[in-house]
Amino acid sequence: MDYQALLDEVVDAVQPHMGHGRAAQYIPALASVDVDRFGMAVADVDGEVAGVGDWQVPFSVQSVSKVFSLALVLARDGEDIWRRVGREPSGNPFNSLVQLEYENGIPRNPFINAGALVITDRLLSLTEDPSGTVLEFLREESGNRSVAIDEEVAASETAHGDRNAALAHFMASYGNFDNPVPTVLDHYSRQCSIAMSCRDLALAGGFLARHGLRADGTRLLAGREAKRVNAVMLTCGTYDAAGDFAYRVGLPGKSGVGGGIIAVVPGRCTVCVWSPGLDARGNSVAGTAALDAFTTLTGWSVF
Ligand code: GLN
Repeated sequence: MDYQALLDEVVDAVQPHMGHGRAAQYIPALASVDVDRFGMAVADVDGEVAGVGDWQVPFSVQSVSKVFSLALVLARDGEDIWRRVGREPSGNPFNSLVQLEYENGIPRNPFINAGALVITDRLLSLTEDPSGTVLEFLREESGNRSVAIDEEVAASETAHGDRNAALAHFMASYGNFDNPVPTVLDHYSRQCSIAMSCRDLALAGGFLARHGLRADGTRLLAGREAKRVNAVMLTCGTYDAAGDFAYRVGLPGKSGVGGGIIAVVPGRCTVCVWSPGLDARGNSVAGTAALDAFTTLTGWSVF
């Protein structure tokens, strides 16, 4: 497959969607990012990587980080975590509070904010430094030691984190938290504030396409666990737009409000696309269109 030619075709197909949508407004440090930016990278299972546009420009990974924290908990703890968090789509916005009360403080899935906070709480118990553990994993898998936390974004997110604090305290009131809420919130914000490029993220997500094998050939997850992470990405990775994402793209995917999305073609490659203009559900407009074009041109949807 000539990835470079493919990516050029994708860029052509996406032109009508470029610059559409708005950058996330509720985290001020993200609000000023230029919505005209667009980058895309494909890393195949052998670690070959091709890219187009702003594919080497770091951006705020935000909720894309939730795939990695979940994988790191599963790698250390196995399936125990599913007693504390579900794996069903929520059908609600990623930062919604309503379901938590009906469902006794058990979040629907690990990719909405409430679920990701539970994952961070568990990773704190397991490692003492969840954001540092995620950061180190991303550096190792991407081969880029300069991947770092953007301190300005982290501070902005913490200063405007009342909603996440509410979610966390609410779950703590149901006994679904083992550590102090402020410590978990701090690590969660820092993990979301990691800045890295499409190139780095496509490489870092390689284990999902390699059925659990890391870049150096060692095993992070058993094949059946990698299958499960991909399944939860497909059903929950784009929040209340997961049905539409499956309809258009047909791959496991995880988005973030920085405008990044990673998508996995199991056995073949991991794709990362970035464009900061978001739709009403918090997913990149041009990014989703690019992945739609990618699977339409290649026939690599899982369907
Ligand atoms: N850090 C963001 C938040 O907590 C992540 C949300 C997202 O990317 N969807 O709201």
